[in-house]
Amino acid sequence: MRLILLGPPGAGKGTQAKFLTERHGFAQLSTGDMLRAAVAARSPIGLQVKEIMDRGDLVSDDVVVRIVSERVDQPDCAKGFILDGFPRTVAQAEALDQMLERKGLKLDAVIEIAVDEGILLDRIIKRAEETEGGPRADDNADALAKRLSVYREQTQPLIDYYHGTGLLRSVDGMQSMGEVRSSVEMTLKEVA
Ligand code: AMP
Repeated sequence: MRLILLGPPGAGKGTQAKFLTERHGFAQLSTGDMLRAAVAARSPIGLQVKEIMDRGDLVSDDVVVRIVSERVDQPDCAKGFILDGFPRTVAQAEALDQMLERKGLKLDAVIEIAVDEGILLDRIIKRAEETEGGPRADDNADALAKRLSVYREQTQPLIDYYHGTGLLRSVDGMQSMGEVRSSVEMTLKEVA
């Protein structure tokens, strides 16, 4: 099963991706995690993207497309994978289509975790407060506001993009974590 989890920062994509990994053995491909690892390792890519990430902007499509393409070839992706935080622009979605076609792979579903923006803002500000001084340099109010506006402008259009392909499914992300998990599992059964 090859899935995309779509939703704004704080919608719970990472949490749901982890559940799916534990339950089904799909690999979790979080571009945010991969980029943070590159920053921590001070690799050439890490040095290039650190400032961009810290202020909540998107790193270039080329960089993320390249790291996803390499990651998808790893053996642990054979059972399936969940893209968490990628694609984030229509250009990335188009590049993903071409990449998967070249590799002879197909997406099974794009699951949107739909959330109420006002409530979401409270939730992510709380997360910022809890992790103040923690591992994420972009979990401060300015960077979070920026990430939300970037989501609205650049990532939200993907909902229409995937609606057009017939792959889009939507779950109510305002339910409890466990209920969202059940809804995601139900969606997987429908597309299997
Ligand atoms: P995330 O952990 O998914 O919220 O990502 C954290 C940060 O990494 C984002 O704010 C971006 O700066 C960068 N990033 C992650 N995924 C992508 C992507 N697909 N395209 C561009 N930038 C990304």
